[in-house]
Amino acid sequence: MKYILMMMTAFGVLISQATADEVTDAVKSYRLANEKNIITEYMTLLEMPNVPSVPSDMEKNAAHISAMMERRGIDTMLLEYPDVPPVIYGEYNTLGATKTLMFYAHYDGQPVNADLWSSSPFEPVFRTDFPYRGGQDIAYGDLEYPLDPMIRIFSRSAADDRAPIISMLIALEAMKDAGISPSMNIKFFIEGEEERGSRHVPQIIEKYKNLLQADLWLFCDAPLHQSDKKTVVFGVRGGFSMSVTVYGAARPLHSGHYGNFSPNPNVELAHLITSMRDEDANILIDGFYDQVIMPTEEELAILASQANNDEALKADLAIKRQESPGKRYEETIMMPGLNIRRIETSGETGGVIPTSATLSLRVRTVPDMDAEVIAERIMRHIEKQGYHIIDEDPDVDTLRNNEKVAKVSWSGSYKAIRTSTATPVSQALIKIMNDYTSGDMIVLPTMGGSMPLAYINDALDTNIVILPIANFDNNQHAPNENIKIGNLWDGMEIFANIFAKLGPDL
Ligand SMILES: [Zn+2]
Repeated sequence: MKYILMMMTAFGVLISQATADEVTDAVKSYRLANEKNIITEYMTLLEMPNVPSVPSDMEKNAAHISAMMERRGIDTMLLEYPDVPPVIYGEYNTLGATKTLMFYAHYDGQPVNADLWSSSPFEPVFRTDFPYRGGQDIAYGDLEYPLDPMIRIFSRSAADDRAPIISMLIALEAMKDAGISPSMNIKFFIEGEEERGSRHVPQIIEKYKNLLQADLWLFCDAPLHQSDKKTVVFGVRGGFSMSVTVYGAARPLHSGHYGNFSPNPNVELAHLITSMRDEDANILIDGFYDQVIMPTEEELAILASQANNDEALKADLAIKRQESPGKRYEETIMMPGLNIRRIETSGETGGVIPTSATLSLRVRTVPDMDAEVIAERIMRHIEKQGYHIIDEDPDVDTLRNNEKVAKVSWSGSYKAIRTSTATPVSQALIKIMNDYTSGDMIVLPTMGGSMPLAYINDALDTNIVILPIANFDNNQHAPNENIKIGNLWDGMEIFANIFAKLGPDL
């Protein structure tokens, strides 16, 4: 595909004709004619606080989004579960369609600390760019249509994860307007608890299992690849957290009087860390990699065929050296990781040897690692370094009778999943995106972070693919979250292309 397009460029053949597409064009012209209405509708949604700790706000959001969906002819109902924001469920059926696509998004947002924002998180502001890069505010009344696609809207959840909701709705509206019908039945699962780890999704799936069958779950969440190119993602890493506390003397000690005699827990943790992981991200714990499914040749070939963005990424991050030498970014996140989150000492200040220090770890897993097995192997490793392992605070006798003591606990495991890029559905999806972008896109075998996809994978027999639309620098979860207008527009075209074309391959 890429090759053919290059040829056409070389011979000056009409590119617009080669890449022109009925669906994309229909959405584009509909959007151009309706930009102001679309933006106005989105503003109204963005003005609604959506932090799950306020249940009445979540109910208002669910009702509001349901109404937005109903206006487009989607039949909706709320999937209720006690004390949890409801899931907005919807159906949009196509006459004669036999296959079903599930569109996943979430309507809850991360908590906000308004003091850290340049503007109020639920009073959306238009800006030409981030304020720190010289971005200027544009008053709502001064917006000129068609909008400059580089303008950003700053507001909590403008990207994560309300952007796919508005883009999907306008995509359906534009298709209807142009007489293009979806190539499948579409269902919707828009949850309100994602930012709290989708804790009740397993129970909700169990309760409503019959409704939730689909041939493909399309997870519309997360940012684009760091190159900001259109991206399709086929998996997520899993993970769990671990805490390791080691102990010094029973009381804080003057480091002049006792240094070189009484062990320092900070030093012990430093040695423990270097025994677990080297500077190149290799994990040195026995058996840690035993269950890892290594990247397939197919996946590596896909990566090799795509532009390498690593130098730009390193410049952006202001780092000269990378971990995992010789591997490109996308491959490094296909391997498990051991992240050292922090070391906290028992808090005494001054020239003191602390009484204890706690290491906070995050283990990132990949298929087919089992958190239970890995946690066990880490504990055996700690034991091999001479530690007596306990799970509660030690008494004085335990400290007197053991050279080294470590209190270890772990929690919060997410399983990793990775969908094959080689299945017919995956291939069809890649082709649609490839056609839409004229080959200028990124296929990611996995993203580095975690999402609750394993719940779906375990409970339902279906395929799972992640389709992000938000600009990579959207400040997801952070102050000054934002979406580029152009990403909303692109999202509409992407969803419409998938709705119109993927059906026969589902
Ligand atoms: Zn999200």
